[in-house]
Amino acid sequence: MELLKERIRKDGIVKEGNVLKVDQFLNHQMDIELLNEIGKEFKRRFTDKKVDKILTIESSGIGVACIAAQYFHVPVVFAKKSQSVNLDGESFITKIESFTHKKTYDVMVSKKYLKEGEHILIIDDFLANGCAVNGLLDILEGAGAIVEGVGIVIEKGFQDGGRLIRNRGIQVESLAIVDDMNAADGTIVFREESVR
Ligand code: 5GP
Repeated sequence: MELLKERIRKDGIVKEGNVLKVDQFLNHQMDIELLNEIGKEFKRRFTDKKVDKILTIESSGIGVACIAAQYFHVPVVFAKKSQSVNLDGESFITKIESFTHKKTYDVMVSKKYLKEGEHILIIDDFLANGCAVNGLLDILEGAGAIVEGVGIVIEKGFQDGGRLIRNRGIQVESLAIVDDMNAADGTIVFREESVR
């Protein structure tokens, strides 16, 4: 998605430790007009899919998932993170290691909001090693829900998450894939994609 890549080139900041900061338009201040275009693009890429709900994870996936949901006309469910959750049988629970915080969280979704046979699209802001998406896939498997695909705003293609999830036969659509980035000089190299 060219508009997104231009914005990353203009406002993205490459940090040490393979972290791309996009606080100017996605992770702190949010550019809603850009998020609208991102939402439309997700709808275009998953237009042939039956989607009953969008699943994301707090906190940074929520904004983009909500805007995308307006084009799918479905609710958003966000997985909640906490240090420890009650194993009361009322929730689907998994563990996720946070890439940015280097911590492991319990992540839960109430059984009220995820039912067997529901068709789910996962949306998140970043895909790095795939821990967040894998955790959400675990939760969906526990629920017996049907995974329709994974929509990602920015994938870091030099990390393994995208390849691992695609190898499981899941459709992953990343609107910008960064194949290389350099904290010393700030360069960002995007994967060339055929226009679809
Ligand atoms: P993963 O679980 O795939 O390793 O990492 C994805 C999660 O970590 C995303 O939900 C995102 O919040 C965060 N993340 C991973 N890499 C980056 C990055 O380079 N920049 C930012 N802002 N967040 C990242």
